[in-house]
Amino acid sequence: MKILVLNCGSSSLKYQLINMENEEVLAKGLCERIGIEGSALTHKPAGKDKYEIQTPMKDHQVAVQLVLDALMDKDHGVITDAKEIGAVGHRVLHGGQKCTQSVVVDEKIKDVIRECFPLGPLHNPANLIGIEACEKALPGTPNVAVFDTAFHQTMPKKAYMYATPYEWYEKYDIRRYGFHGTSHAFVSARAIEFAGLDPNNSKVIVCHLGNGSSLSAVLNGKCIDTSMGLTPLEGVPMGTRSGDLDPAIVQFVANKEGKTVDEMLTILNKKSGVLAISGKSSDFRDLVSGKEQGDERCALALDIFTYKVAKYIGSYITALHGVDAIAFTAGVGENSAPVREMVMSYFDYMGIKLDLEKNKEFGDDREISTPDSSVKVLVIPTNEELRIARETLELV
Ligand code: AMP
Repeated sequence: MKILVLNCGSSSLKYQLINMENEEVLAKGLCERIGIEGSALTHKPAGKDKYEIQTPMKDHQVAVQLVLDALMDKDHGVITDAKEIGAVGHRVLHGGQKCTQSVVVDEKIKDVIRECFPLGPLHNPANLIGIEACEKALPGTPNVAVFDTAFHQTMPKKAYMYATPYEWYEKYDIRRYGFHGTSHAFVSARAIEFAGLDPNNSKVIVCHLGNGSSLSAVLNGKCIDTSMGLTPLEGVPMGTRSGDLDPAIVQFVANKEGKTVDEMLTILNKKSGVLAISGKSSDFRDLVSGKEQGDERCALALDIFTYKVAKYIGSYITALHGVDAIAFTAGVGENSAPVREMVMSYFDYMGIKLDLEKNKEFGDDREISTPDSSVKVLVIPTNEELRIARETLELV
């Protein structure tokens, strides 16, 4: 069966068509600036050149149709009939407390996605639009929702409750949910396999470090804690997000500068993190080169980021009562040897040793610790699309 994987953002749509017989990507691409002037579709069929078309896309319905046209195009296409698409797997940001695993979409599930709009205001509406666009463009083809929050739903109550008034939890579902769940699920499962661990007796920490970053503690394949919370703002500092802070800062600065809570949250989401500390960039490549050129604030941004990641790893070793493997993934985790080295330098006291040469290599799944290291340190490239496709296949 061929499965189309869609990841809809507010003005973008990423897609992959995967042949599930061999898990080969037949084509992938991206629609950008949907609903904005200058919309473009970039389509890359396997083994052929990529091509780009600039054409107005007033909404996601138009974008989905363009994607289907590209997939069936006589020159750049990879299928001849839309009926070849057996199912569509959609990445959905927030499933709240009701959606604890992937599901085939029906009207009730669409209601749940809608109920979660306040919890994922930027993503959930776009995700629902993508689902409804597929319902219209591919009538009769099942749509599966794969939630970013689902993998973390196995967290125990002591990990997901905030110490705030209990009725906030009862009335408004205020609790920690966690995000990047598809990535944490994929990478932790692959880490167990790659390190040769017993799936039912394994302790893995996943460090998903990208523009957004989160960590998870995975016991016997199930998540028991993660660093993001009600929203993706909690946890380690990120490209532009502050991560954990004392909420009194919000009141203090809002009063000083006459800002609303909404304005403060925009600053904490979009103008904080390593961008704010460095004063230069949210991109870790710029921070590393800035540090090499003697920029103290780039060096400080890297210090703060890696210190906080190390503190989360330390707390998860405690939560798991030990650890068998630590896996790095996502843009920074997969590519930045200096970041991995700085993080792991905090754990020499417990006999975790990085092979500094192996750490500098690029490639697929790999071990970067020495043979005598007390814990295996791995780099596992994430593949959220493949995980979504596998879950979709299982359900249909
Ligand atoms: P992601 O959110 O997983 O797509 O990660 C994107 C981020 O990865 C970028 O903002 C960069 O900071 C980071 N990144 C990508 N390549 C490298 C690299 N070679 N070295 C350091 N950071 C990188």
